[in-house]
Amino acid sequence: MTEKLFYRDSCIREFDAHVLSCGKKGGFYQVVLDRTAFFPEGGGQSADTGAIFFEGGSVKVLDVQETEGTVVHYTDGEVPQGAAVKGELDFEERFSKMQQHTGEHIISGLVNQYFGYRNVGFHLGKEAVTMDYDGTLTEDDLRKIEAEANHAVAENIPVKVLYPTREELESITYRSKIEIEGQIRIVQIPGYDSCACCAPHVKETGSIGLIKITGAIHYKGGMRVSMLCGFRALADYNRKEANVQKISTLLSVKQEDTAEAVNRLLEEISGCKEKIKRLQLQYVEGCLEAAGREQDQKKDTALLLFEDELDPAAMRNFVNGAMKLTEGICGAFVGNDRKGYRYVLGTSGRDILAAGRELNQVFAGKGGGRPPMIQGSLTRNKEDIEKFIRCWGKVE
Ligand SMILES: [Zn+2]
Repeated sequence: MTEKLFYRDSCIREFDAHVLSCGKKGGFYQVVLDRTAFFPEGGGQSADTGAIFFEGGSVKVLDVQETEGTVVHYTDGEVPQGAAVKGELDFEERFSKMQQHTGEHIISGLVNQYFGYRNVGFHLGKEAVTMDYDGTLTEDDLRKIEAEANHAVAENIPVKVLYPTREELESITYRSKIEIEGQIRIVQIPGYDSCACCAPHVKETGSIGLIKITGAIHYKGGMRVSMLCGFRALADYNRKEANVQKISTLLSVKQEDTAEAVNRLLEEISGCKEKIKRLQLQYVEGCLEAAGREQDQKKDTALLLFEDELDPAAMRNFVNGAMKLTEGICGAFVGNDRKGYRYVLGTSGRDILAAGRELNQVFAGKGGGRPPMIQGSLTRNKEDIEKFIRCWGKVE
């Protein structure tokens, strides 16, 4: 059994120990010490990381797991057996995890108190923190819980850890996810929560800093709530502030008016799109009228339109209208010689599938569709395409 220093004091960041064993497994070394402050993965919290120093070198601690009371450190190098070593935690990371975890206890305790829901899933990773509850919460519920949780922070309540006997346990009310065998460890935040938990916590609630609920979605009949505490909440605030600041500058509005300004912008864009659509249809009408005047005598020649830009609906409109003017091949090509063209082709008097097949073959294009209209794309200059289609018409 490894002596677990993280239970003696959750703020130990350095410690002395002796190496009991070190063996290679896979790409890692498994190091067992007589005592450790490295918390192994457990209770939804990921393992601590850091380094182990010994005379003549050091190794990185990449993962920590516990099996039957023994804490195993997974390192990137060998540590001499029997050596006196110094362990050093990445304490910034550990402290951040304690801020999140104690914050989670307060939120889950309050959710349980007010709504009777249980925390049925907890994930505390390097960035995100999520809790799953077996009931649904409204936006107002979450705001109320969040405000109350931050009161618990302001009250700077000492976090209590109890190791009750089986008899003492009878008189303690506590939340627990699973039936626990052996010694139960209860983490209490008086007035807010009491919960069975194996993880290290901050010593007073004031160390948590801000508790911020950042999102909630419906999940497996309940809710998955996202939360950030302390320095993670500050980093999130900074990220969001930078975004709002940027939008505010881009739109020349106050930060608190950005959402409304974006909404106005979207409405404007959608109005512009409608206008472009109308103008394109009018333009195509004009092209067809002009073509109609020229086309009078030649009822079976090809009728083609080449444009840099045109929406698919306007392309189809042109081809539809052109098919009423000629029995030849009608086509709308949009693009340019360098990047290629999207096309819509149609005809009322010829085999459009055969024409499309041959066109794609000759110009390495692709596409398809059903008569009387097909569509596709190809890369070739306008002159060659035009020549091909006009000739194809004649051969037929
Ligand atoms: Zn816990």
